[in-house]
Formats: sequence, C-alpha cells, structure tokens
Amino acid sequence: ATPMALLVGTGRGAQLGILIKGPEVLESTRRVDTVVLDKTGTVTTGTMTLEDVVPADGEDAGRVLRLAGSVEDASEHPIARAITSAAAEQGPLAEVTDFENVPGRGVRGVVRDADIGGEVFAGRASLLTENGLRVGDDVMAVMTRAQERGATAIVVGWDGAARGVLVVADAVKPTSAEAIRHLRDLGLRPVLLTGDHEVVARTVADQVGIDEVIAGVLPEDKVDVVRRLQDEGRVVAMVGDGVNDAAALAQADLGLAMGTGTDAAIEAADLTLVRGDLRVTADAIRLSRRTLGTIK
Ligand code: ADP
Ligand code: MG
Repeated sequence: ATPMALLVGTGRGAQLGILIKGPEVLESTRRVDTVVLDKTGTVTTGTMTLEDVVPADGEDAGRVLRLAGSVEDASEHPIARAITSAAAEQGPLAEVTDFENVPGRGVRGVVRDADIGGEVFAGRASLLTENGLRVGDDVMAVMTRAQERGATAIVVGWDGAARGVLVVADAVKPTSAEAIRHLRDLGLRPVLLTGDHEVVARTVADQVGIDEVIAGVLPEDKVDVVRRLQDEGRVVAMVGDGVNDAAALAQADLGLAMGTGTDAAIEAADLTLVRGDLRVTADAIRLSRRTLGTIK
C-alpha cells in the first residue's frame, strides 16, 4: 500500500467516527479474523442499576443494602456506583476502614456500626468462601436465578456467612446485535470476553448473536486469552472500554477502544470508536480492506 492511499483511508476513518493512531494500523486490520468483545461497557451500556435486594433467611434487606453500599463507597466500579447510590438514597452510610478492592472479585472493608463491628464483603461468591464465609443454598439459588436472566448477582456477607444478594444489571446496547451481524457478514468470528459469570455472559451472548463465550476471566488474565487465541493462529481484534481491558487491547493485533471508555483503554488501542458505537468496528475493518484492496 502506498502511504498516500493509507492516508486517504485514515481521513475516511475520521468521517466514520474512527480515530486511527497511524496509517500503518490499517495494514493489520485487514488480516483480522476474530473479534473479541468485552461485555460490560462495550456490548452492554455499562450503566448499572440496582434491580433487587434479596436478604438471606432472617436478614433485613435495608441492612444488607446499607452495609454493602458503605463498603462500595470507595470503589469506582460501575457495580459499586449502582449499589452505593441506591444505599445512599435510603439513608446515611456507615463509616468504613481497611477498605480493599479485589479486582475482578469485589470489595471488603471493616464497617463501624452499632450492629456489627466486623468485616463486610461484597462481590463474587468465591470472594466470600475464600475468606471463610458460608454461602447458603438459599443465597446460591437467588444468584442462579438472577444470572439466568443476564443480571449480575453480588453476594454480601459478614460475621461468617452470606447475608444477602444484590442484583445489578445493565442493558445490552440497542445497536449491539446489528454490530455483531455486520462482523459476521465480513466473515469474522465474534467472541464475548468478560470477568462476569458464565451464565450472565451466555445470556448476553444469546441476545446479540455470539456463540463463543469466555467468562469468569480475571482482569489480569484478559491479555492471556488474547495471546492464546493468537497462538491458535487467529488474528485478533479486541474491543474494550475499561482499565482492565488495556493490556489485552495492546496485545491484540488490532485494539479498538470505546470513545466513551477510560483513558487507559484509549491510550492502549490502535483505533478509537469516537461515539462508542460498536457498529463502527465492522466499518473500520471494511474500510481497511477496501483501502488496501484498491492499491494492489
Ligand atoms: P467485566 O469484565 O465484565 O468488565 P469486571 O472484571 O470488572 O467485569 O468484574 C468481574 C466481576 O467481579 C463482576 O461481575 C462482579 O461479580 C465482581 N466485581 C468486580 N468489582 C466489584 C465490586 N466493586 N463490587 C462487587 N463485585 C465486583
Ligand atoms: Mg468493560
């Protein structure tokens, strides 16, 4: 490809709402055969709302929400923002010390409270069990039901046991299914990648038409998933928005960041979808194929 033709391609990219780091990016785009899509904030809106609070037997819903909201207050995660704002609407939050964010798993902190004077956990069930808290069958059943309809279930626990489940959900973007169809039309294989639970991931994948799902992946392991696909001989584009996607975006043959995402993701990516419109992914790949195709 001549530099001139590539630059023309770049200018067309800007019109489509694609920011391209350098003209050479278009070269690697052409060979892409697999598109790995982050779930939260990429295929879904990423704006979480609290849908339900389900206390364990004998526990009080208001207390579950207040204690979880207090611990989540120090976290920037969209799940934490949903929980804390719902809790704050209901009343004042409790004071928390020794806060710890456990990436891809949840949060913990010591709550100073009239009722309890101990550590509160909020996150995946494994975060609780690994710290010696019992997660009862009633709690597990609530989690499964929530996950089966595509919602994320956050377990809240203290004093040795899970005390309730918070159900948070974000919506699939109205344009995601169309975006996936466009990728398939180009002969590309879409893969959904997420730290969320397998059942949630499957439900979202079904809604948008993705067959291949890689779920329960810790933030630091997303890059290994991309590497593994590359080792299988696939040429991988990765689309993401979060801090936890940055390494994977850099590792991918082509990294695409949502313009609505974090700075870390945008810096690591080769292309930025300015308006955060997933449909532009297919446009970008079509553009590079066409640009490079005409110059041979
Ligand atoms: P994704 O890959 O979909 O962007 P994350 O890696 O950020 O998701 O999180 C994976 C899972 O870890 C979440 O689905 C949730 O179960 C748990 N988790 C992460 N952060 C928090 C938090 N602040 N509070 C509760 N749970 C959390
Ligand atoms: Mg994300």
